[in-house]
Amino acid sequence: MVKPTAIHFPNLTVWLRVALAACLSLPMLAWSATSIDAVRYWPASDYSRLTLESSKPLTYKLFTLNNPERLVIDLENVEPSAAMQELAGKIGSGDPWIAGLRAGMNRPGVMRLVLDLRGEVKPTVFSLKPVGEYGNRLVLDVYPAKPQDDPINAAANGQIPDSKPDNKADIAKAEPVKPNVTAQIDEAPSSDKYIRLEKPGKKPQFQMARLITVVIDPGHGGEDPGAHGVNGTLEKNITLEIAKRVKTKIDALENTRAVLTRDSDYFIPLAERVDKARRLNADLFVSIHADAFIRPDARGSSVFMLSEHGATSAAARWLAKKENDADMVGGVNVGVQDKNLARTLIDLSQTVTNDDSRRLGKAVLSEISDVNRLHKGHIEEAGFAVLKAPDIPSILVETAFISNPEEEKRLNNDAYQDKMASAIVAGIKKYFASNPATIRAKLALSACVILPGSYPDWLLEQMATT
Ligand SMILES: [Zn+2]
Repeated sequence: MVKPTAIHFPNLTVWLRVALAACLSLPMLAWSATSIDAVRYWPASDYSRLTLESSKPLTYKLFTLNNPERLVIDLENVEPSAAMQELAGKIGSGDPWIAGLRAGMNRPGVMRLVLDLRGEVKPTVFSLKPVGEYGNRLVLDVYPAKPQDDPINAAANGQIPDSKPDNKADIAKAEPVKPNVTAQIDEAPSSDKYIRLEKPGKKPQFQMARLITVVIDPGHGGEDPGAHGVNGTLEKNITLEIAKRVKTKIDALENTRAVLTRDSDYFIPLAERVDKARRLNADLFVSIHADAFIRPDARGSSVFMLSEHGATSAAARWLAKKENDADMVGGVNVGVQDKNLARTLIDLSQTVTNDDSRRLGKAVLSEISDVNRLHKGHIEEAGFAVLKAPDIPSILVETAFISNPEEEKRLNNDAYQDKMASAIVAGIKKYFASNPATIRAKLALSACVILPGSYPDWLLEQMATT
């Protein structure tokens, strides 16, 4: 066990609320040790997450150590368990932020986890109450400390000022700091979104074409599996497969790129998915899901847009609640994120965006009707949190019913996934072709000179045929 030599706080994030809860629960815990029943770990490029599940809430202390960079969590009243023994072997390889983990009893009743880091990080820890099949969870998210090289976003986000190094190990004195969830953008700087068209025979020097950005959001992920098929298919895996196919097809289009909200199996809060699209100044947002219903005979694909005044049907309301529960299941610091989103949304009219979302939804729905039967013949509306970007046309595609055994089989089928992805892309192309004004508006915002030649060829072709 490494003896702490110097302790400082610049990146220490402790949630006052959690600390308070921990203090309150301490007297009860003092009498009986808790065991860690399950450990889950999700390394990813945005952030890495470690989840410890226990029968009782865990009391912990988190602090960082330098030279080399380490993150230490002391868990009080925790006894050694098989799950903890397994933990060390699970962590490190392929993780961009955590190099390895050691666990052991630090002193009687205190288990210490030491995470060896690959560099400076911003950790955040929070507790989740039992929900569904999950027990009490202590969640550690390890974010990179330094935001990517994106001056516009850095300014907009207001970077967290580093506090002065402090040698005291009393973490209760550390200020709770908002996790800098906006700092892990892995996309290129905004200025790279504009590329020069070099068409032969034209004078391109004043002509700029803006890269069209489509954000594709594979629903669920990590701790949140989404819906289950009777044969064990998990929605989170299907959504990622289809989303990746959509991305490949969009990236193949000239001057157009797709960015995934997640590219592997990890959880992203709903608000963060929306924020990511907004930071990218995305032209469109498409969330991909696979439906489930209590009745196994429910079937067909659906396309949803955000409802203006609540869900249009009881079923839509039910579904919206289920999808919005993702944050509860997947694990999110409820409160801070919600307030942020709420502030952004207040006083912003979504009328124009909703009209565009409807057009986008119709275009996608009509393409999907060639691939699968439709659950309803029209766009449905519901209060999905993930569709709430006030300025980005957004739709949610329920690709099929994973709860229907026949459709579950199709969702696992390569050809079906590919056809579904092609249909979504065809709908997107159709939408852009019939709504070039959408792109133009974004261009105007970017103070670019608009010339017909600034549209990519695939769009000009599509406009000619639509
Ligand atoms: Zn879903």
